[in-house]
Amino acid sequence: MTFRQLLLFLMIAIPFTSSHTVAQQTGFKVLAFYSDKTEPDHVQFAQQAVKFLGERAASEHFTFEATTDWQDLNDERLQAVQLVIWLNESPTKTEQRSAFERYLRRGGAWLGFHAAAYNDKSTNWPWFVDFLGGTVFHINSWPPLPARLVIDDRSHPVTAGISDFDSPANEWYIWEPSPRLNKDVRVLLTLDPSNYPIGFKDVLTSGDLPVVWTNTKYKMLYMNMGHGDKIFTSTEQNQLIDNAVHWLATGATQPAAPQSNAVRIPSNGIRVSSKGIAVNPRTGKFYAVNTANDSVTVLDADGHLLTRVPAGHEPESIAINPGTNRAYVTNSGSGTVTVIDGANDKAIANVPVGNLPYMIAVNRVTNKIYVSRTFSDVTVIIDGKTNAAKTVKAGAGDAVGAESLDSNTYLISYENPDVTFFVSTNDHVFNVKASNHLWAIAANPETKKIYAVSVGAAEVTVIDQKSHATTLHGIGELPCAIAVDYSSGKVFIANYASNNVSVMDGTTNSIVATASVATNPQAIAVDSGNHNVYVASTREGFITVLDGTNHSVLRKLKTGKNPFAIAVNNQSHKAVALSLYGDLIVIDGTTLTTTSPSANPLEP
Ligand code: ZN
Repeated sequence: MTFRQLLLFLMIAIPFTSSHTVAQQTGFKVLAFYSDKTEPDHVQFAQQAVKFLGERAASEHFTFEATTDWQDLNDERLQAVQLVIWLNESPTKTEQRSAFERYLRRGGAWLGFHAAAYNDKSTNWPWFVDFLGGTVFHINSWPPLPARLVIDDRSHPVTAGISDFDSPANEWYIWEPSPRLNKDVRVLLTLDPSNYPIGFKDVLTSGDLPVVWTNTKYKMLYMNMGHGDKIFTSTEQNQLIDNAVHWLATGATQPAAPQSNAVRIPSNGIRVSSKGIAVNPRTGKFYAVNTANDSVTVLDADGHLLTRVPAGHEPESIAINPGTNRAYVTNSGSGTVTVIDGANDKAIANVPVGNLPYMIAVNRVTNKIYVSRTFSDVTVIIDGKTNAAKTVKAGAGDAVGAESLDSNTYLISYENPDVTFFVSTNDHVFNVKASNHLWAIAANPETKKIYAVSVGAAEVTVIDQKSHATTLHGIGELPCAIAVDYSSGKVFIANYASNNVSVMDGTTNSIVATASVATNPQAIAVDSGNHNVYVASTREGFITVLDGTNHSVLRKLKTGKNPFAIAVNNQSHKAVALSLYGDLIVIDGTTLTTTSPSANPLEP
């Protein structure tokens, strides 16, 4: 059944059944609004919500209709409606907004999900900000991940019968100021602090993060959930939504017990990249972003501190051209790429590339540098000779992964199931279909294979560089990082939610082993010299070292400090991990011990 057919079915079937049972004569009427032209994951959620609410309406005897036509937000249409739901958007037209305000004043009720409450400077609807509790969207976690939720208010009808639960993968929003600071707001659910840090790119690190709340001045409830196709996979969460619909549609009377809105520290977050640290294979030096100090830390091959190079504001990703001995750093805050000359480790240029540069790859053959930008559908290409930048509109916007192989460069983004191929010699662009919600990419220069990891579908796509033939292989849950051992050909993929690493044979593409590692692995690197595999578990502060030959655990190193990116020097056999707070952890691949970088005592 297509979505349109389903909608038609609901609109015909529900009123029909409702006229045939007594219970429905007292049933309430729910009207849901959504857009089918907004962010695909928000549309997917809305479509699943329409199905879910339609089924509940049939079994619980209320009337449910859904529409994508926001013109339906008018006095006449809302007259007989007890509950208005916004699934993924809010109205933009003044007359629709006014009709909604009148509806609320008449005693109507509202349930809003996720992006339905999104508002920023351009929204221009102060009433709506006040309605939400005086709060505006601040930042989000990325990509969508599951999270433990805590029930704040157990006396409320909406949380009746529900205990703390694991909410399925979702994009978590931070609001500012926190709605908890509003005396009229009752917060019903909060993100459990045990989730922190949560995110691979946009990482929420600390603080109080209300997820479901009501402004007691109105009959309203806001729920942060609503991104992607996993929202309705939790029985507890489904019950919560069901409770919310019934409470709102049948009067939304608030229980007397007032909540004490004690001041808590509001939540916070940072943006990081798995390419926050890199090795120059020619000089053996490590280059790591120091976001707190707007600089790049340079270590020698043994992990001794050499120098700090000033970069732009909020440096995030690094890529190196060993041929020219230059390092390139994206500065998210200043919209530039800093070019570092590796001969003397000095910044020699800051190339403007536009807002929020993020992922970066260097094509060594053509000496071109590819830069993605967050919230943008363009790729910036820098000529390594002249540092001139040009912008290309290609289906690789907002890329979260980038890799080069021979004269090609590959970009992947979460919202696009394709791997975008840039033919660097002539800037020709084409796409090869991989799988949903790509997050990590690697290439093997020996076998000419490209590996694209789908965090959304728990799959890895293997692409032949020449023929573009693809094969799909299932791996663990929420795979998010990949590394290739160039000498053995083996591929190692970290599975965040399965707490393990899938090992793929480089010739047969079959998964030959699954190695358990510390909880929630989210970064991986391999030493092709000694076959050590380093797996960072950011949340728990562990690095698991695997023997890449027999896939056994050599050691679980408790490092603390939330390591989220690793680079390996396969000559000195040192690995260096970068933490969320800028600390560097040096691991000796022979003794499997960790140290902090220090000045080399042998150097003056
Ligand atoms: Zn979202």
